[in-house]
Amino acid sequence: MPEQHYDVIVVGGGNAAMSAALAARERGASVVMLEKAPKDEAGGNSFFTAAATRTTFDSLDDLRPILSEVDEYDLSITDLPPYTVDHFHADMQRLTEGRCDPELSDILVGESASAVNWWHSKGLKWTLMYARQSFKVDGRFKFWGGLALGGVGEGKGLIEQETQAAIANGVEIRYESPVVDLIADENGVVTGVVAHGPEGRQTIRAKSVVLASGGFESDPRMRAAHLGPNWDVAKVRGTAHNTGEVLMKAIELGAQPYGHWSGCHSIAWDAAAPPTGDWELTHRFSKQSYPIGLIVNRDGERFVDEGADFRNYTYAKYGAEILKQPGAIAYQLYDARTAPLLRQDEYTAPGVSRYEAASIGDLAEKMGVSPARLERTVREYNEAVQDGDFNPAIKDGKGTVGIAPPKSNWAQSLDAPPLLAFAVTCGITFTFGGVKIDRDARVLDRANRPIPGLYAAGELVGGLFYHNYPGGSGLTNGMVFGRRAGDHAAR
Ligand SMILES: Cc1cc2nc3c(=O)[nH]c(=O)nc-3n(C[C@H](O)[C@H](O)[C@H](O)COP(=O)(O)OP(=O)(O)OC[C@H]3O[C@@H](n4cnc5c(N)ncnc54)[C@H](O)[C@@H]3O)c2cc1C
Repeated sequence: MPEQHYDVIVVGGGNAAMSAALAARERGASVVMLEKAPKDEAGGNSFFTAAATRTTFDSLDDLRPILSEVDEYDLSITDLPPYTVDHFHADMQRLTEGRCDPELSDILVGESASAVNWWHSKGLKWTLMYARQSFKVDGRFKFWGGLALGGVGEGKGLIEQETQAAIANGVEIRYESPVVDLIADENGVVTGVVAHGPEGRQTIRAKSVVLASGGFESDPRMRAAHLGPNWDVAKVRGTAHNTGEVLMKAIELGAQPYGHWSGCHSIAWDAAAPPTGDWELTHRFSKQSYPIGLIVNRDGERFVDEGADFRNYTYAKYGAEILKQPGAIAYQLYDARTAPLLRQDEYTAPGVSRYEAASIGDLAEKMGVSPARLERTVREYNEAVQDGDFNPAIKDGKGTVGIAPPKSNWAQSLDAPPLLAFAVTCGITFTFGGVKIDRDARVLDRANRPIPGLYAAGELVGGLFYHNYPGGSGLTNGMVFGRRAGDHAAR
């Protein structure tokens, strides 16, 4: 097939790719986007999200101008604590154990607000995530955990709106076009890619190539090789298409591997979920209300502090803890007291692994756990619960004493029938390791020199997240660095 020429090639079809493509078009570049997936599976992990997007604000007034579909009365009874640049910085430092790349992290935090405003200007609709990120306390919606902004229509709506914006702005999108090779000239300047489209292999040339094809979480062999034993049996929460081949091609070409290659984002995911993401149910196999419940393994033993922090700050590391348990299985326990506070979309999704009984012993029987062991664990926990006012919207300090691990917040005795259990396993979201980029999203070689013509953004980039991750930062990452990559690539 004849060679084709563009100013900018964007590899991938998720949020980072869309951000790069639009930013490049804004500068007048001709842009082709090469998406590996067919149209009905396009959009990568971004499609699977709840579209929760972490951004900074001093008050509700900062977000108000970009919100759609909000109820004025709800807004009047909303308490939204400020989430400033300092808060976001502190979260990045704390959760990554001080390892996040300082320059990239500064940019992520500093441009989070301008990136969501920029997408608003392109037609993306934002709302406040009442159901997922607030609790109603004393008649008012109290937001918690630094995360409030969400895309209208969740990930499906986000990708639909971003795709519309890309097409309206002149981006050419090709589906079923996996990139199988990167092309560089004798001086190491990247000049194009080889894509394997429906009509066969084709060389496409460009002045710049932006890689936004995600991590390697969907490849079991790469998971086992980089994350370690048993990661090959983890379930994949999102797209089956993020298999890391473009990332490896970039490294073969000289890109510097960077970041936490043995680390990833993984969460409590329904044990009955399919091996890779379900395009209809998307994120609904998540089970993220555990801070108000208990988690036990197959032996009926607790193994994490469920109430260590808000869900947004623990969920991304607890998947790995479940993977370490016998059979890579755990059970979340709730009762009539906590059931009304569960995230309804997650706990009522079709096919979830749900057990219900009038007593702990009967519940254990149904779960296939030793009744005596589970009764002992729950009895010891109930006896350890301290008095205090339960409040899920703040870290209420209502914890346990004398048991290990403790439950540090939101501890209430588990004894109000009906008792509920949900079976969960480890669901991997995305991998943390990737290539190194500079502040303009140029890919760096092993001597920290930019590889001419090569840019990267999103999950394929390493250095931002280590060990853990502040919920809602993945989309912000793609928007901030995708926009930078597209802008610089076009220039
Ligand atoms: C269930 C779930 C829920 C989530 N919820 C949230 C949330 O609410 N908020 C948040 O911030 N983050 C969330 N995340 C994380 C978030 O999805 C990612 O951090 C973010 O979407 C990554 O964007 P990306 O563009 O880098 O990658 P992706 O969106 O994964 O896009 C990668 C793209 O590359 C394509 N591709 C792969 N290989 C090739 C190839 N060889 N050639 C061409 N194209 C290729 C893929 O098909 C895909 O389109 C969630 C993830 C999952 C799975």
